[in-house]
Amino acid sequence: MRQSNMLLPTLREIPSDAEIKSHQLLVRAGFIRQVASGLYSFLPIGNRVLRKVEQIVREEMDNAGANEMFMPALQPAELWQETGRWNTFGPELMRMHDRHMREFALGATHEEVITSIIRDEVNSYKKLPLAVYQIQSKFRDEKRPRFGLLRGREFLMKDAYSFHDSAESLDDMYNKMYTAYQNIFRRCGLDFRAVIADSGAMGGKDTHEFMVLSEIGEDTIAYSDTSDYAANIEMAPVVMNYEKSSEEPKELQKVETPNQKTMQEVADFLGHTLKEGLKSIMFKVDEKFVLVVTRGDHEVNDVKLKNLYGASVVELASEEETKEVMNAGFGSLGPVGVGENVEVVADTAVQYVVNVSCGANEDGYHYINVNPERDFNVSQYADLRFIMEGDPSPDGQGFIKFAKGIEVGHVFKLGKFYSEKMKASYLDQNGKANTMIMGCYGIGVSRTVAAIVEQYNDENGITWPKAVAPFHVHLLALNVKKQEQKELADNLYETLKKAGIEVLYDDRPERAGVKFADSDLIGIPLRVTVGKLADQGIVEVKDRQSGEQQEVHETEILNFVQSFLQP
Ligand code: ATP
Ligand code: MG
Repeated sequence: MRQSNMLLPTLREIPSDAEIKSHQLLVRAGFIRQVASGLYSFLPIGNRVLRKVEQIVREEMDNAGANEMFMPALQPAELWQETGRWNTFGPELMRMHDRHMREFALGATHEEVITSIIRDEVNSYKKLPLAVYQIQSKFRDEKRPRFGLLRGREFLMKDAYSFHDSAESLDDMYNKMYTAYQNIFRRCGLDFRAVIADSGAMGGKDTHEFMVLSEIGEDTIAYSDTSDYAANIEMAPVVMNYEKSSEEPKELQKVETPNQKTMQEVADFLGHTLKEGLKSIMFKVDEKFVLVVTRGDHEVNDVKLKNLYGASVVELASEEETKEVMNAGFGSLGPVGVGENVEVVADTAVQYVVNVSCGANEDGYHYINVNPERDFNVSQYADLRFIMEGDPSPDGQGFIKFAKGIEVGHVFKLGKFYSEKMKASYLDQNGKANTMIMGCYGIGVSRTVAAIVEQYNDENGITWPKAVAPFHVHLLALNVKKQEQKELADNLYETLKKAGIEVLYDDRPERAGVKFADSDLIGIPLRVTVGKLADQGIVEVKDRQSGEQQEVHETEILNFVQSFLQP
């Protein structure tokens, strides 16, 4: 491709709205342009990378035995009503109606569509297991679209679905997909980790997220410093052997704590450590008020709370709602003397505290010398807190450390969540009808492009790994007005192209400095520069990642490039 013919606008300045490296570099290097919040166009060079990642995904899916298909992005509301997700999916689902006022959604995911197809077309165990996938745009009206391609409102996803007649068959496919995902992200050059994730209210059991390790990741991974245990922090169970202190319970006392609002302020005011106070937070769990109590040094994990209740929505109660049911604001909540209208649950650690403080449900007052059981009741104790660094690893080996990750893929055993509601059944060997068992497997293809850039960049630009680079070679003719340079570069361009090498040829009448800067920014793995030594048939090659450069004779170039591109 001749750069003079290409829509490849580069920018020197960092776009002011781009907070993270991948967003800045993909815009500056001419890969993407924003159309509106969370909506991006892939310019020609960006499209090349997107298609390469897509092709890696496709090859590995085909290898795992999945069939590629293509479903409409526009989906009738009726399908989503069958599973109840028309109501539960919330505002993330982009809804609209047609000219006859019939309701539709732009697909955020395709479980409903595929399950309706399989229900109609597959009726016998003989056709199972079956796995299908597509690579297609998905739409989600994210609360905070940000970080460029990482969290868009329209993005490219590979979504696969599998259908089975036994749990073993699902296990087998799950393992195949897991391996395919490892191959995909390895081939993309990514440093990643598969972590145990939350299966939520989906009814499934196993689920793993594939996380690219990165400081800017929105997810926290809790991993063992000794074993290969890794889980999304939302999920990691806490396995602590708490011990009860031998201190004698003292008499409950109400004390004034004027203007002390935060846990730390109250602890300082009362002269104790954070863990010697109780934290009480009011949640709305499917419209029911639940006061969640933890030790002051612990944080409530709302995913665990949601799972405890099997709830579909868990949210913090507003201060107004809290005042209404508790007669006290956020800073003075506590489990002592709570009325019937509020359920109190507590983290396991709370069972072991002695003589601690908590809010008195009266603004400006706290209790001290509070003891569970004696001073308040809880409807249940459960693991409700986030795991912390230094806690024992849930697998019994080593201690927990944290890392940040970008979720690029997700494999999920769905079980019968969709097939039951949508009546997707098959006849078994005995002619008996059974409900199908399902799995689903997603990869954020466009998000993966951004994740690669997060891991592959330096102060001058992107440093693409070979397998996903937009081109293999960036050929620069430094001064196109010099006949010998132009001629040699033209010849090399033809030679390399003929050999099947993907070349971006900078044949623009620009200054050398501009060409070098653009080349570093765009980040093609190998640069071949035709400059002053062209009359001797000598060119300079430079490895973008290592920065190593050397002179090579024109007759050797093809060999050099071919061996450089060997995986
Ligand atoms: P997240 O927790 O990041 O919102 P999710 O759990 O909603 O993601 P899934 O429903 O599992 O995502 O979708 C499969 C994959 O699609 C994710 O692993 C991720 O790589 C990608 N993805 C999800 N939401 C977005 C988005 N808004 N922009 C880009 N990619 C996305
Ligand atoms: Mg997910």
